[in-house]
Amino acid sequence: MVKNKPKYHIITFGCQGNKSDSERLAALLDGMGMAETGEAAEADLIVMNSCSVRQSAEDRVFGKLKVFRKLREANPNLVIAVTGCLPGRDRDRKIRAKMPEADLYFPIRDMVQMPKWLSGLRPDLFPQGDGLDGDYLKIEPRHAPGSQAFVTIQNGCNQYCTYCVVPYGRGPESNRPVADIMGEIRGLAERGVVEITLLGQVVNAFRAPDPESFSKGNPYRDHYAALLWEVNRIPGIRRLHWTAAHPRFMTDEVIDALTLPKQLNYLHLPVQSGSNEVLKRMNRKYTRDQYLDILRKVKEKRPGIALGTDIIVGFCGETEADFEDTLSLYREADFDISYNARYSPRSGTLSHKLFRDDVSREVKKERWERLQGLMGEIVLKKNQEYLGKTVEVLVDERGDGWCGGNSREMKRVRFACDRDLNGQVVRVEIGRALEWMLFGKMVDPDPQTPSLRETYA
Ligand code: SF4
Repeated sequence: MVKNKPKYHIITFGCQGNKSDSERLAALLDGMGMAETGEAAEADLIVMNSCSVRQSAEDRVFGKLKVFRKLREANPNLVIAVTGCLPGRDRDRKIRAKMPEADLYFPIRDMVQMPKWLSGLRPDLFPQGDGLDGDYLKIEPRHAPGSQAFVTIQNGCNQYCTYCVVPYGRGPESNRPVADIMGEIRGLAERGVVEITLLGQVVNAFRAPDPESFSKGNPYRDHYAALLWEVNRIPGIRRLHWTAAHPRFMTDEVIDALTLPKQLNYLHLPVQSGSNEVLKRMNRKYTRDQYLDILRKVKEKRPGIALGTDIIVGFCGETEADFEDTLSLYREADFDISYNARYSPRSGTLSHKLFRDDVSREVKKERWERLQGLMGEIVLKKNQEYLGKTVEVLVDERGDGWCGGNSREMKRVRFACDRDLNGQVVRVEIGRALEWMLFGKMVDPDPQTPSLRETYA
């Protein structure tokens, strides 16, 4: 009789970094002879890959645990694991104490110990008992099928922005070898992936542990720019994107690398605030003018590039004048998109220890709404400039009579189509522009990016 494989169910909260980590978790559990299930109720093991960026994100983990408590009543052998940023930042284990349901509770980098821990808990289901050696980033992730893939190049962060849990949740910055990154991307290209997003907490601070792996002819000394150049040479990869960058590491070479042919025509560069006082309290290590100067250089190198950012409103001590500085910076930068958050203090962070959360909830909400309004106004104006222009779209969605995807500017685009074009790159002429969607008609399917041949002939 064929024995059924034990089943696991992974729930991922938060950012792309966590999603990418979950792909490694899935590969690890597959390698232990388990099978994934989309139904928590069928699982022998449930893993929650948590996010700690805001209280609401942590609350969701507690909400799920309540549900799983009921599942355990039906299946007393169910194993529940909590990993991700939450256990990493919980140094005094006070949060752990509120989670009696969790059998395993570990920072994501310790996933390599799961085989040992699981066989200790359920030897009947998980007979192989050794932990794996070394860095969890060595585990080859089980990428989801499709034409786009996320590739983690770095874990952790050394920057210690005062509001942020990441340096505690993920630990100090560590970078993957160039040889491993290139091997993973080549494998993805062979499988038909055409768009890569490089992931790291401060992706452009990348420092190669194996700089000898860069090609002799690589024109860049800055390791991140050099990595972008190498990825640009991989046949089959047509579009390259990365997140999240820090202004401090936007060197002239990284800015120059924005002109490499496969680089998307989009840069996401978190600013967080337009006020020097607030930036100082956040420990962002740049001023408003330095940030704007970087954008000026970026726009000179790559005219027409779309820009995105992250902003926190209502940080400790933020006055109305500070907030006005953020609005004026927003106008000056002319961003296409901003991910705006209201400051929420996180225990263990420096801002929680050093400053008072003295901007009221109402004021935070009011400032957030004003910023959202400004964003809508500017993006609509910028999107109108696409009318009559042709953009390149990587198709990733199909509806009833239409297809959709992202342009190189990371604009969402929809157009009429009567067949499955998923994974193809098509050109679409824009006829209508809304805040968050461009509509147009396809003018030709699947062109090759012309400048590639010129650059690497
Ligand atoms: S750079 Fe700052 S905001 Fe980004 S992960 Fe590091 S500490 Fe957090």
